[in-house]
Amino acid sequence: MQSIHPLQVCRMNEPNDPQDRIVSPDTVSEDEGELSLRPRFMREMIGQPKAKDNLGIAIEAARKREEALDHVLLYGPPGLGKTTLSNILANEMEVPIRVTSGPAIEKPGDLAAILTSLERHSIFFIDEIHRLNRTVEETLYPAMEDFKLDIMIGRGPSARTLRLDLPRFTLVGATTRAGLLSSPLRDRFGIHHAFELYSQAEIETIVRRSAEILGVSIKPEGSREIARRSRGTPRIANRILKRVRDFAQVRADGIISEQVAADALERLGIDDLGLDDLDRQFLAAIIDKYSGGPVGLETLAAMLGQERDTLEDVVEPYLMQLGFINRTPRGRVATRPAYLHIGMETRYRDSDPSLF
Ligand code: ADP
Repeated sequence: MQSIHPLQVCRMNEPNDPQDRIVSPDTVSEDEGELSLRPRFMREMIGQPKAKDNLGIAIEAARKREEALDHVLLYGPPGLGKTTLSNILANEMEVPIRVTSGPAIEKPGDLAAILTSLERHSIFFIDEIHRLNRTVEETLYPAMEDFKLDIMIGRGPSARTLRLDLPRFTLVGATTRAGLLSSPLRDRFGIHHAFELYSQAEIETIVRRSAEILGVSIKPEGSREIARRSRGTPRIANRILKRVRDFAQVRADGIISEQVAADALERLGIDDLGLDDLDRQFLAAIIDKYSGGPVGLETLAAMLGQERDTLEDVVEPYLMQLGFINRTPRGRVATRPAYLHIGMETRYRDSDPSLF
């Protein structure tokens, strides 16, 4: 991949749709079979030891007391297992789960309809909870705290509030960034868990497990190669595995070896660290157009034709984990390894000759 010059991929006027990216951590249509790969119980869930420990204890205690589990807030980049974990909580607690997302609940009435139909102790999962609108969020406060729902009846001077009792339930909220949540909402969750990108070894285990479920033959070097390029994200690892399986069936003997995986990934435009065109464009823009930074995220978003949130949620976490960029109060700065990776080391020398 080093052979691709970053400026060649810097097509500023041709923004690539983040949904088309193989390395997009968001759900895309080809992830439809995801359900079968999803771990169903804590013991099947790979990685996230802290979540398993803390939640394991909370589940056992709640079950002993025959109470609902405390409200749980899960945060972290997409594709790391927030939905999976909330389903696991329901399975472990042996209760039903109701799934929705922040933008889907438009009015307090939509929320009331769900809350009043929940079964006792069930899990109510709200994805993208930071996108709830203000009035819906305020309706949620007494529901979370006292299991009461205040609804307005009538209008004008004859309007009055009716207080309904709700069954005890567990709200599981998921968000990509905890900072986007208002503090009254955040404070109403008893259990918080921050998901971090998975280690290479954990992703390798996930790839092996998924290959077994899908009935794919894979050599240990093959799963290592896929894991190395999956950006620490299980959803991306599973998606790459499926693409590489297709390639192995058509171009090789159906077995995923290191070479088969490397060839398939090269064809998909994913380099040896898991970066794709958008990541390289991002780095090239900082290095080439802004002499390595600092440059503001808004400027980069406009330049690359991307949403600011896309860059912040799906491009930056992995580049930061690799140590390729730093966030400073004045904007993003590219580090020396980033210059090296995209083959622009001479620019680094130019930017700070005293370093050589
Ligand atoms: P999120 O809700 O954070 O976007 P998901 O829970 O939908 O992520 O996870 C995406 C996919 O990744 C799941 O379908 C599952 O196959 C896989 N996955 C996530 N976490 C794990 C894990 N800890 N172990 C194994 N597979 C996982």
